[in-house]
Amino acid sequence: MTRHAALARWHEFLPATPAYQAWRNHVEPGHANVSRLSPALRTRVMLEDEIIADTLAQYHLPQVEKWLQEVCWRRYWKGWLEMRPHVWRRYRQGVHDAQRHLSTEQKARQNAIEQGQGGIAIMDHLARELIHTGYLHNHARMWFASYWVHVERLPWELGADFFFRHLLDADPASNTLSWRWVAGLQTRGKTYLVRRSNLEKYLTPTILQDSTGLELLEDSLVSPRPLSLPEEELPHALPQLPTLAPSLSSRFGLWLHPDDLCPEVGPLAHIRPTAVAAFTSSPIYTHYRLGQNRIQHLHAALKDATTRSAEHYGCPVTLDEAPTTADGLVTWAQREQLQDIVAFAPFIGPIADAIPHIQTRLAEISCQLHLIRRPSDLAVFPKAKAGFFPFWEKMKTELVRKSTGSVFEGKPIH
Ligand SMILES: Cc1cc2nc3c(=O)[nH]c(=O)nc-3n(C[C@H](O)[C@H](O)[C@H](O)COP(=O)(O)OP(=O)(O)OC[C@H]3O[C@@H](n4cnc5c(N)ncnc54)[C@H](O)[C@@H]3O)c2cc1C
Repeated sequence: MTRHAALARWHEFLPATPAYQAWRNHVEPGHANVSRLSPALRTRVMLEDEIIADTLAQYHLPQVEKWLQEVCWRRYWKGWLEMRPHVWRRYRQGVHDAQRHLSTEQKARQNAIEQGQGGIAIMDHLARELIHTGYLHNHARMWFASYWVHVERLPWELGADFFFRHLLDADPASNTLSWRWVAGLQTRGKTYLVRRSNLEKYLTPTILQDSTGLELLEDSLVSPRPLSLPEEELPHALPQLPTLAPSLSSRFGLWLHPDDLCPEVGPLAHIRPTAVAAFTSSPIYTHYRLGQNRIQHLHAALKDATTRSAEHYGCPVTLDEAPTTADGLVTWAQREQLQDIVAFAPFIGPIADAIPHIQTRLAEISCQLHLIRRPSDLAVFPKAKAGFFPFWEKMKTELVRKSTGSVFEGKPIH
């Protein structure tokens, strides 16, 4: 989704935000009840701050509280994981271990379910929708995850990985932590159980026309899969990062990556880079076994960001394929004779995992990487120390206090 398309969709959806609370949970073909903006928010071709500012410019908070709450759930998950990087590392290790230890029978079951041939018609429909469109409604994600964990009793990590490979909005925080929540690991001991009556209440009857296998989801039938709870670790302090680019007299470059593709809004808007670059990398996509739609979406978002950056910064902008991001950055820095590279700090996830190696490789050619955090992330993330509702209470106070002020970088778009 380009920034232009995301803003157009947002303009279209904004008048529906007061009705969001009443209709959000209903799953209908086309998903008109929800914004479908998550792929744009995930890559930050548009910012939550823009959504929040526009919403509050138009409506009072009580009219749109549920809508803003959901927009802030994403912020909450991001902040929560930033302070607990071990949760991401353990999840990736869990995917690796589960793949190795799954029995032949379980592997066959996993494959059948992922291909939409598990035998419960509605779950098969959802698996196919995920693969073909790269999107699932939130309620559908909850049902499917619960089915995977509590009915099929497959490792939650492999279900989360299935989503991560195919969702266009695949996000290390929202995805991993939501799967943990369904499994009963996030809010300790509290699981989410899929129920036939809930499916019948919230799904359009045409989607549920084929009722094959629904009897396996009868309300009293699904029970929580017992899981051993890992020891809880206290959150780390948020790493200290600057919120402004350093003033550099050298030749410096701006690196764009899919955790933040909106450099023209926020603290990097006024820098004057020598060159801008972004990278695609087939070996990385193969390593994570990403689906075709997900790869195409990433490429389109990167292409859009480089086109906007060429216009905004008026310097050479490239989008190159590279074996790894470190290889791409080193080749680019040498070609452009860069002594410094500035970038938004990636969030906990695959790009952040690569940063130590990138820094080492750049240091070998005497080039320094400067990571910048958006001021609004710095203000919001530390509030995600405990549960969502204490976080939301603090957020609400901020929202009321400064609907378009310093915490929020977005400017009203109308
Ligand atoms: C098992 C599971 C896996 C999930 N995986 C992801 C993921 O990989 N990436 C992702 O962005 N979201 C994920 N979610 C959260 C949520 O389902 C999606 O953000 C939402 O469905 C996106 O659709 P939308 O843009 O139409 O949402 P809307 O209802 O229009 O909401 C607007 C925005 O608010 C945020 N939001 C809404 N609901 C949630 C929520 N429950 N948690 C966090 N943020 C929310 C999203 O940024 C969304 O784009 C997951 C939820 C579950 C239960």
